[in-house]
Amino acid sequence: MDVTEIIETLRRLREGEPSYVRGEVLGSMTVDAPNYLVEAFKIFINTNLNDPKLFKITYELERACIKWLSEIMHGGGYGLLTYGGSESNLTALYVLRELTGGDVVLAPKSAHISIRKSCKVLKMNLIEVGVDEDFLPRLDDLCRLIRKYEGRLACVVMTAGTTDLGVVEPVELLVKMCGDVKYAIHVDAAYGGLIAPFIAESDPEIPVFDFRLEKVYTIAVDFHKLITPAPCGALLLRSRELEDLITFEAPYMPSGRNRGLLGTRSGGIAATAWAAINSLGTEGFKQLALDLVSRAKYLSSRLVELGIKVLKEPKLPIVTFNVDNSDKVMKRLWASKMYVYPTSIPNSLRVVVGPHITYEVIDAFVRVLSNIVRGSE
Ligand code: PLP
Repeated sequence: MDVTEIIETLRRLREGEPSYVRGEVLGSMTVDAPNYLVEAFKIFINTNLNDPKLFKITYELERACIKWLSEIMHGGGYGLLTYGGSESNLTALYVLRELTGGDVVLAPKSAHISIRKSCKVLKMNLIEVGVDEDFLPRLDDLCRLIRKYEGRLACVVMTAGTTDLGVVEPVELLVKMCGDVKYAIHVDAAYGGLIAPFIAESDPEIPVFDFRLEKVYTIAVDFHKLITPAPCGALLLRSRELEDLITFEAPYMPSGRNRGLLGTRSGGIAATAWAAINSLGTEGFKQLALDLVSRAKYLSSRLVELGIKVLKEPKLPIVTFNVDNSDKVMKRLWASKMYVYPTSIPNSLRVVVGPHITYEVIDAFVRVLSNIVRGSE
């Protein structure tokens, strides 16, 4: 094939995949990044964040992104950009295992599957605690286990923006309840990290989950769940000491070292995150977060009007609802190119309100869903 044919073929093949613009991607956390952020990625695509001596400017872009995120999370500017939440979670668990020498990870059942996967990879012992009827972690159980495993504990994982419901888990309350025990918390804010801090400014019910809490050592935040092309995430660290734990000797590299669990990391991730930060600014991120939450609340209220049970009034832009025969309903929605996701909660389906989910998309979705649940489609 010649190059033109290859590109035309790929364009045609992509046409066969779900479209963001037509509002088909409803359940995924991926987004339709604006062109300038794709362009930003492309400009730096062939630089390597793991070669900071050769690609000094790329490294500076990464530092600027970590600094900006750290300001939001009240951190000291330590961390690295990653290829997303799974890598950030794996790296955090590794760092905290190395720091503490502990092999036990405590996490509510609401934690993302990458926590379970990371424990398997790192041969750590995951102990899960349940969530209550309001989908919040059972803090009594967590505190009891924290005491029980003190000395063997690598970390407790809490999530700011759970995968199923977008719940920001009560990290501050956990810290208060557990008192003076030695442990570290990893906060998986892969989904909520760029949304919850801005919503919290006007919603006191959103708990504090950042470095202001002494027990918080690591925080995962993803750009690609909100605005940039994938992959693009970050892992923030409490201190330089933690950064040292993910710095490995690499005699063949000009810097003599390798940062993070991956090797080559495209500098495109730094360029696209930098472009997003500098075009939106902190205020722009805040407006986007507020806008998405308003749309999610609108969707939630439309569903309630239809008599559909919304599992939890959305605080972040995820709407999870309960329907009888959810498998069948999902199949019908998919047949209408409305790709909602299942969740781990029985008979419930999820819509993630990303920037491409406009009010028109929501209205069209509600129309189709309403016909399906009333049995007329
Ligand atoms: N953490 C949370 C809370 C998530 O919802 C997800 C993905 O949905 C991840 C981590 C993993 O992110 P990624 O798929 O970018 O690795």
